[in-house]
Amino acid sequence: MKDLKRIYNFNPGPATLPLEVLKEAQEEFLNFNDSGMSIIEISHRSKPYEKVHAQTKADVLELMQLGDDYEVLFIQGGASLQFAMIPMNFASAEHKGNYILSGTFATNAYNEAKILGVGEIAASSKETGFHHVPQQDELKINPDAAYLHICNNNTIYGTEFHYIPETNGVPLIADMSSDMLSREWDFKKFDFIYAGVQKNLGPAGVVLVVAKKSLIEKSRETLPTMLRYDTFFKKDSLYNTPPEFCIYMVGKVAKWIKSQGGLKEMARRNSTKAKLLYDEIDNSEGFYRGHADKDSRSFMNVTFRLPSEDLEKKFVAEALEKNLSGVKGHRSVGGMRASIYNAMSIEGVEILAEFMKEFRKKN
Ligand SMILES: *Cc1c(COP(=O)(O)O)cnc(C)c1O
Repeated sequence: MKDLKRIYNFNPGPATLPLEVLKEAQEEFLNFNDSGMSIIEISHRSKPYEKVHAQTKADVLELMQLGDDYEVLFIQGGASLQFAMIPMNFASAEHKGNYILSGTFATNAYNEAKILGVGEIAASSKETGFHHVPQQDELKINPDAAYLHICNNNTIYGTEFHYIPETNGVPLIADMSSDMLSREWDFKKFDFIYAGVQKNLGPAGVVLVVAKKSLIEKSRETLPTMLRYDTFFKKDSLYNTPPEFCIYMVGKVAKWIKSQGGLKEMARRNSTKAKLLYDEIDNSEGFYRGHADKDSRSFMNVTFRLPSEDLEKKFVAEALEKNLSGVKGHRSVGGMRASIYNAMSIEGVEILAEFMKEFRKKN
């Protein structure tokens, strides 16, 4: 085999995945489980695939410490389709979907509900530039709301919820696309969680939904079959052909997380990595300016600016020379963004932090 030249990949998504998982998938790609076929060539009604499907669901629930009042669904169309399916299934003119606007994707989710005439804003940090996640005392949740929707981690702005909103009985729905399975969390407080898996859990192509069965059963009956959650529930996400390879990869990543010590260990590594970068920002005497307010800092996407755009360009170019790739921020925020998901090693972040320090001293 040729020398494996892997860079430190700080891209926001699709993003870095554990090397062990990639190698395992490579090894069994041509002959899955002695079937003489690849995982992408076998029937979704076959025994070997069914086993992958069931094990992936079981491992996700085990990692989240959820019981059989929750169901795991696999749906295509990205997290963006969930933005529409959620209000279509659960909201109405009398019982609107309530939304916390904490960034770009949170707003995109609200906009879909607005198109349907069923969206209502419970709080927003837009006026102050999305530097923080609205706190409990800022929330105005309509007691008649069908649900409260939050975006748990704001991938573009680099802010994250560090508390779980108290909704007084209104179902809580969370987009966890960019921090799913990154830390221990009281998932039981959520009625519906979803994540496009391409940030932290696998390749693009499937959304992982983990939801209370009692909520799924409220899917709107007048919707077309493929837009209803209860179709996926009743048919075990096998109503039509599921994206087998994506689900197989999510299963491998879940198994990898378990083997590493579960969500407790992911949380330890992720907070260690985040601290390395935030410490460098805080100790830079204003050279690096973090976008997020301290109480809302993301452990997944660390966003910061440099004194000038010229220096930012130089930063990206010189980082690349050190094998540090994908640190350019989203065009809507500018500056830098280092995405440090589960699979990014502490070593990779140490090298980035060291590079930041040297760059600051030289400039
Ligand atoms: C990337 C992202 C999305 C969009 O996901 P798609 O699968 O591309 O539709 C939604 N929400 C969050 C938090 C994201 O990071």
